[in-house]
Amino acid sequence: MVLGVITVLSGGVGAARLLKALSDETDPSELTAVVNVGDDMVLHGLTICPDLDTIAYTLAGLNNDDLGWGLAGETWRVMDELDALGGEAWFRLGDRDLATHLYRSQRLSEGATKTQVTAELGRHLKLRVRLLPVTDDSIATVFDTEVGELSFQEYFVKHRHGVVARSVTVRGVEQSSPSPEVIDALERSERIVIAPSNPLISIDPILQVPGVRDIITRRRDDVVAVSPIINGVALKGPADRLLGELGYEASCVGVANFYDGLIGTLIIDEADARHAPSIEATGIRVIVTTTIMAERENARRLARAVLA
Ligand code: GDP
Ligand code: CA
Repeated sequence: MVLGVITVLSGGVGAARLLKALSDETDPSELTAVVNVGDDMVLHGLTICPDLDTIAYTLAGLNNDDLGWGLAGETWRVMDELDALGGEAWFRLGDRDLATHLYRSQRLSEGATKTQVTAELGRHLKLRVRLLPVTDDSIATVFDTEVGELSFQEYFVKHRHGVVARSVTVRGVEQSSPSPEVIDALERSERIVIAPSNPLISIDPILQVPGVRDIITRRRDDVVAVSPIINGVALKGPADRLLGELGYEASCVGVANFYDGLIGTLIIDEADARHAPSIEATGIRVIVTTTIMAERENARRLARAVLA
């Protein structure tokens, strides 16, 4: 087994962009992504892993940039037919995307682990970055909200993350364990990176898998995080709102507080340079650079800062 020299704790889109930029700046076979599976769900009897698939499709250059999820050039014949049947068509799965979920579900039913299936799908897509689900056990992120308890996709897709959250819980996480590959990557990589993913619902479920937080805490001097919050706002999704609703400041300062004790370095955007002194006062080293990855040259500059 080739061990990645850099391990990246990863959610979906924010992580996928950073992993792609890192792949431009270093040997991708030295990169391992430890990926959140708290968003995973079973629908139509199929196991769907949104964060793993977002990263795999993005690294393969197959991601749908217009939608922000799924595959480019997708068709929707199965969903249209399902909708006409009165089936559960609110969570859209494209025709080609469905093949991924069919394959994964069949392999899991044969006794393969999520780690094994992820490797198989990665080989098919010719990925050089190694993707590891943080755990092979089932965990599920749920939201206690003003309209009652919601599953991850109910909160995100049905309610378009527009309701106030009171708390977030990762069901099953206490009984879960990280895969041996994950422990190995976290223990032995030279550097651990926390991607600019949603701290509360992408990164925290990874940290809650027993053992993971301890390793990160012990290795904090080697841990560098990239803030997903720029000038008080998330580029996508509810990270800013959730930070505020769950007791943190909706800013890179709130991100620094959330990761207190876990990181040695935080990379923040130039737009947030004024916050650097107050973060450094908490003992976290701050690097200020461009952190918006929409343009490739900026993404590569951020990647160089992460690797420096
Ligand atoms: P999801 O699982 O697909 O929702 O994605 P993640 O949790 O990985 O990422 C969502 C976060 O990515 C949001 O909070 C965004 O602000 C952040 N994000 C997306 N693109 C960028 C980027 O180019 N730069 C930075 N710094 N953050 C980004
Ligand atoms: Ca996600």
